[in-house]
Amino acid sequence: MIKIVKTMKYEIKYDKELYNLLGDIQHAIWLIKNRATTAAYDWQQFSFSYNERFGEYPKEKEIIGKTLSPDVYGFLKAMGSFVSSSIVDSAVNEAITKFKNDKVKILKGEQSIQIYRRNGSFPIRVSQIKGITKLDNKTYNAKLSLLSKEGAKERNCKGQSVVTLITGNGAYEILDRIINGEYKMSDSRIYKRKNKFYLLLTYKFEKEAEKVLDENRIMGVDIGVAVPAVLAINEDKFYRQYVGDAKEVSDFVAQINDRKKRLQRSRKWAGEGSRGSGRKKLMKPVDAISNKIHNYRETKNHTWSRFIVNEALKNECGTIQIEDLSGITTDNAFLKDWTFYSLQQKIIDKAKEHGIKVVKVKPNYTSKRCNKCGFIHKDVKKEIWRPTQADFKCLNCGHETNADLNAARNIAIKDIEKIIEDQLKAQEKNVKHVEEYLV
Ligand SMILES: [Zn+2]
Repeated sequence: MIKIVKTMKYEIKYDKELYNLLGDIQHAIWLIKNRATTAAYDWQQFSFSYNERFGEYPKEKEIIGKTLSPDVYGFLKAMGSFVSSSIVDSAVNEAITKFKNDKVKILKGEQSIQIYRRNGSFPIRVSQIKGITKLDNKTYNAKLSLLSKEGAKERNCKGQSVVTLITGNGAYEILDRIINGEYKMSDSRIYKRKNKFYLLLTYKFEKEAEKVLDENRIMGVDIGVAVPAVLAINEDKFYRQYVGDAKEVSDFVAQINDRKKRLQRSRKWAGEGSRGSGRKKLMKPVDAISNKIHNYRETKNHTWSRFIVNEALKNECGTIQIEDLSGITTDNAFLKDWTFYSLQQKIIDKAKEHGIKVVKVKPNYTSKRCNKCGFIHKDVKKEIWRPTQADFKCLNCGHETNADLNAARNIAIKDIEKIIEDQLKAQEKNVKHVEEYLV
């Protein structure tokens, strides 16, 4: 998710009293910002002479409180005593921050200090904008806290002013979304153009990041025995990811099968000779257990496939390459298990949903090829290149790695089938070289 911050302007509907108030605030803030800038400059000068006299710079916090001396701050507040203090605070902070950012250039004489315009904007904090309600598609009401207590008393009105916002094309949808909580408001501004006041509303929301997927960035998925899936990326030699725990699944299945066997035995005794619906009823718990295993595996496959596709998205892989498990001949019961096709299918379905291309790779030599030098251990005794289930050791270059990771890295290579084919041809010519290791 990424955070989006945007602004939209809304005309504030003319009302004589309201426009007079906004004009007065604009005027006060104009004076305050210029005065604050001058005060910051004066402080800078004071700071230099202090340094000359005492050999160190005055510490702002100790000597003047937060940013400006309480005297100056009090004076600034008095200039806009009728204005809500959060508007004055924000305006003073803006002026001081601007001065600090420009300070070096100002002191070097490269820039003059900021002079604020008479018709400039003033800040309004998010906490001062409340109660947005829809009147119709063009107009909305909002309550703005513009006055201080003192100002409200002075002007004989409430601290909150109800203003009507006039929306343009599409702008009303933003207010609708703010009302329904989809968007959040942020600190905003009020400004004047051609005799009209506007609220420049800042709003924010979260959005799913749109990743640009690169088709040439390939994630290889090796489906295996020790670990259900191992991931590699062709353009990232450091990337590796082991997905899931096959032992957890096999333990669960073994435990359930145990129970099933016990049940079947007891049913057999109890159900001997019985026929029809009576027997069906007795066998029900056994079926329920089979379902349990099925559901468990399906849940795991969903979790793993979701994780794999998320990894591909996160890493901007536009292609997933996976072994083509249809028609696989293996003596490994776990691989033969149909749930592996189910895992594969779930990866393919979820990848396509997200616009990731899926390429199936013949699995014939993906485990036997050394990912480092390309040598394929065809007709080479398995105990030489794969001393244990988990380990790969290259006869040609000596490269040692996790066997499943080695396979995943091969699967992640673009046009790997063609590369394997060419390599096999090249090796046939060199067959003598490895003769002594052959089966
Ligand atoms: Zn090698």
